[in-house]
Amino acid sequence: MSLRNRLTLLYTSLVGGILLVFGFVIYQLVSVNLVDQIDELLAKSANDIIQVAQLNAVGELDMVSTPKVELATNVYFQLWERNTGLRLASASISQLREPMSPLDRLPGKPVYRTTSIDETPIRVLSVPLSAGNRLVGSLQVGASIAIVEATQKTLLTVLMIGTISAMGLSALAVSLATYQALASLGRATDVALQITRADDLSRRIPYQGPPADEVGQLISAFNQTLGQLESLFDTQRRFVADVGHELRTPLTVIKGNINLLRRMGCSDDESLSSIEGEVDRLTRMIGDLLLLARVESGKLPLNYHMVELDTLLLEVLQQARVLAQDRVTLRLGDLDQVLVCGDRDRLKQVVLNLVENAIKYTPPGGEVFVHIDKTEEQARLCISDTGPGIPPEDLPHIFERFYRAEKSRTRTGDGKGFGLGLSIAYWIVRHHGGEIEVESTIGEGTHFTVWLPLMEGDCT
Ligand code: ADP
Repeated sequence: MSLRNRLTLLYTSLVGGILLVFGFVIYQLVSVNLVDQIDELLAKSANDIIQVAQLNAVGELDMVSTPKVELATNVYFQLWERNTGLRLASASISQLREPMSPLDRLPGKPVYRTTSIDETPIRVLSVPLSAGNRLVGSLQVGASIAIVEATQKTLLTVLMIGTISAMGLSALAVSLATYQALASLGRATDVALQITRADDLSRRIPYQGPPADEVGQLISAFNQTLGQLESLFDTQRRFVADVGHELRTPLTVIKGNINLLRRMGCSDDESLSSIEGEVDRLTRMIGDLLLLARVESGKLPLNYHMVELDTLLLEVLQQARVLAQDRVTLRLGDLDQVLVCGDRDRLKQVVLNLVENAIKYTPPGGEVFVHIDKTEEQARLCISDTGPGIPPEDLPHIFERFYRAEKSRTRTGDGKGFGLGLSIAYWIVRHHGGEIEVESTIGEGTHFTVWLPLMEGDCT
């Protein structure tokens, strides 16, 4: 059963149930009230009659004519003498020789019963009459309750019609309301199916209703998921294209050299070292890719130990001097003693990558400046250079894998990278609970900052 039908059924049954209970209570109250009024009338009439009843000398009931009391219309009575039977009755029931309600099973006190005469429903009050302790007869006063039954019947009809109409109206209202609310969901389902069929993640589900309601929130969450999926698929597509592109260049070089060797019929040193260089490059790239895949998925095992960041930086500078040679000046600023908790090799990889990049991208005669200090909770490692800077349009992307700024792409030579180093550095720093930031001004240089939490207590 559809959600709409289920909701309609639920609300309609709820309304019907409440109205039925409510109707039952009203019906009972009205019935009891009407019967009470008749009972009161009967009691008052019986009382009036008893006031004028007398006993004769032999102790029998002595009332030979209709008592001089004013009985209400539709109220009739019978006076029964214990020994002689019916003594007196109202004119309207003078032909009735039977008691209006059985006299035998009277409990010795006034009793009300509902019975019928000639199919007319009547309410009868039977009152035992006694002189001293002696029972001398009974008085029965009756009144038709046809009007009560007619009122009950009308009330029942009104309540039934009211309940059925209310249930019908509520079913209609709920059905319309849920139709409106669920129509947007239906449209969302259609668009979602179209997106799946057309494989088009750029589409979004339109929604005209209030964005803050539940359906609006659902659709907005779904659209956000679509956005995320789209960007993930884009990244994946770019990744595959980039890997393909990066692999093609060294393979072409290797193949070209092999063809050359074959044509020459002998091996020459230059071709062999070119092949070797490209194979090394491929090996490095595949190593970086595997590392990136592991670090991105959080599956890279990190051996946490106490790391002296200042000592680590000195080691990196020592290595970097080979690369800088006389081309670029390496300058060391403040070197606070800073302890962090981390994987020493991985952190060294990050610092080495940043320093090597700074040297690599800084033209001859330029400077690379490094320093370490700390705030209350964090260590700060800064690497600045006087290189060409990174264009603002490239800056948000440089931590993405295979991303290289336009100028770096056209670079050639041994130092040529794959655009993976910063992605790896970004993830390693993230897994250490830190952050990596970059600021750059074209023509002035680039400034990288690595924030790492200071070691607190033991390194676990
Ligand atoms: P690559 O192996 O290409 O250096 P990275 O991931 O290390 O890859 O760097 C990504 C890109 O960021 C580089 O291609 C370069 O365009 C830019 N870049 C990184 N460091 C610097 C820097 N110090 N100066 C200028 N550009 C830089």
